[in-house]
Order: sequence, then structure tokens, then C-alpha cells
Amino acid sequence: MRVLHFRHFLKTLLLSTFGVYVAIMLTVFSLFIYRPEPVPDTFAPVIELKGGESMTLPVNDNFVDPGYDSYDILGEYEVKVEGEVDASKVGDYAIKYVAIDDSGNTTEKSRVVHVIQPAGIVYLTFDDGPSEHTARLLNVLKKYGVKATFFVTGFGDDAMIKREFDEGHTVALHTNTHNYSYVYSSVDNYFADLNAVSNRIKSITGQESKLLRFPGGSSNLVSRRYDGRTRIMSKLVNEVTKRGYTYFDWNVDSNDAGGAKTSDEVFNNVTSRFVQGGESVVLQHDVKGFSVDAVERIIQYGTQHNFLFKALDSTSYTAHHGVNN
Ligand SMILES: [Zn+2]
Repeated sequence: MRVLHFRHFLKTLLLSTFGVYVAIMLTVFSLFIYRPEPVPDTFAPVIELKGGESMTLPVNDNFVDPGYDSYDILGEYEVKVEGEVDASKVGDYAIKYVAIDDSGNTTEKSRVVHVIQPAGIVYLTFDDGPSEHTARLLNVLKKYGVKATFFVTGFGDDAMIKREFDEGHTVALHTNTHNYSYVYSSVDNYFADLNAVSNRIKSITGQESKLLRFPGGSSNLVSRRYDGRTRIMSKLVNEVTKRGYTYFDWNVDSNDAGGAKTSDEVFNNVTSRFVQGGESVVLQHDVKGFSVDAVERIIQYGTQHNFLFKALDSTSYTAHHGVNN
């Protein structure tokens, strides 16, 4: 009997004016009055410049903006690029990249483009890496938008070789073992060693390199100790060329594997030997911390004196030494 009474009561309530009133009020409350707190968007969009904060362009070359990566966590945003580069006129040009989201959060990055009449071309090259110093070297090169060349070995982290390649540097062949007594004891040993480092690069970058530098350079005499008087360097320079490789020596020695023991000495040796109106292939080693530490100042000096930094390719100046063995 009680249950029946309760059902009867509910029926009456819902059909009553009061019940209809309650239902309407609940709907109004949920639709118009109850609002969850909106999450405030205080997060500004992120912009990462590709190619660094500064770049150098020879006058009358074609300027292509290296662009940027960007993202935002909440809402919509847009990026405006302001400023123009007149590549036909020597000068410094600023480009601004401004990202604004729909809450007004703003991020701004800028890049300076130096349009120069080059005083010469400088190829920074680094042998024997990668090493624990390579990451900070790559950071400096990135900061200045400078591309360099790495003649790598079988040592060090694969990830560093990947970074060198991904960041637009030339990854080239030096030697797998850097063991003179092995690589220079026969032509077969030399190529077995070269193929090993070549396979390493190919497995990391997906590309085969046909650019190389001999351990000790093509003019080295150390090979005489191990080749049984067969004049192995004379054979190797012919044989690598026949097999489609281009070999590079250098004409600016930082002497970081010789007498130079400090960053100042490396800086002085390199910058004092820059070839005015010509090409400089600079020898450094990214296994030497003090040599890596000189690179930022070398780039700053070169930029201030209108030198253009480039990575080596198969058409570049090879700076060949005379073969002595
Ligand atoms: Zn070496």
C-alpha cells in the first residue's frame, strides 16, 4: 500500500505546476548558470628558427629563408615574418618571426642576415671524431648558421654523426681504426678500414660518402714505417681517385695535433692563415676540447672580416699536399 502511495505522489508532483517549474529551473541552471572555470591560456607559442640566429650570404646569391618550426599548446596561433633581405646589396638585414595566439601570448625571434662581399671562403674541417666535445661544437656551428665538414672515425657516438648529418654538415671518411700500422701496411688493409667507416656512416645517415681525408694527410711520411717501402701513398691517391673518391688535405693547420695546446694558439694559428681572396681548408680535431673551444671566436673573427664559411663537397678546393711516399 505504501509503494502505491509513493508512486501516486510522484505522478502528481511531475504533473503539477510545481514539478514543471522545478524541471525548467534545473534546465536553465545547467545551461546558463553553471559554467566550469575556463583554463586560462598563459602559454605562448614556441618558435625554433631553422638555421640559427645569424647567417651569411655572398652578395647577389639567392636568399632562401631557412624557416622555422612552431607549435602552441592551446588554441589557435599565427606566425608573421617581418623584414626583407636585399641580396643584391651588401648589408645586415634583420628578419623577425612573431607568433601570436588567440589569447594574445606572443613569442618573437629574430635572425640577422649578413650579405657580404666575401673576403675568402673558409672550410672548417674536424678530424678524428665524434667525441664528447662534438655536441658543443655542433651547438656553436648552429648558433652561427655555419656548415662544416667532419672526417669521422669508427669511434664516438652514432647519435653525433646523425646530428652532424641532420644539421647540414658534410660527414666524410677519415679512418675506422686510425691505426697507422694497420691502414698503411697494405692497400687491402687501407680499403678494408675505409669500407668499415664508410659502412658506419651509411648505416647512420643512409648516404654513402665519397669524400675522404687520409690519416696524417696525403703527404704523410709515417706510412713509410709500415708499407715495406712500397710507396703506399702514391698507390692510394691513385686508387681512391679511381674508385670515385675525392680526397682532401688542408692549407690552414691549426696545429692542434702538434705544438698548439691552448684555444688562443688555435685561434691565432687559424685566423692568421686565412687566405685573403682565396680558399682556406682548415684542419682541426673535434677530439681536442681546447680546439673546439676556439671555434666560436674563429667564426666571429671570420664573420667580422667577411669570410664565408662553407662545408666541403665533391667540387670544392681539395688543398692537396705533395705526396712524399
Ligand atoms: Zn686523424
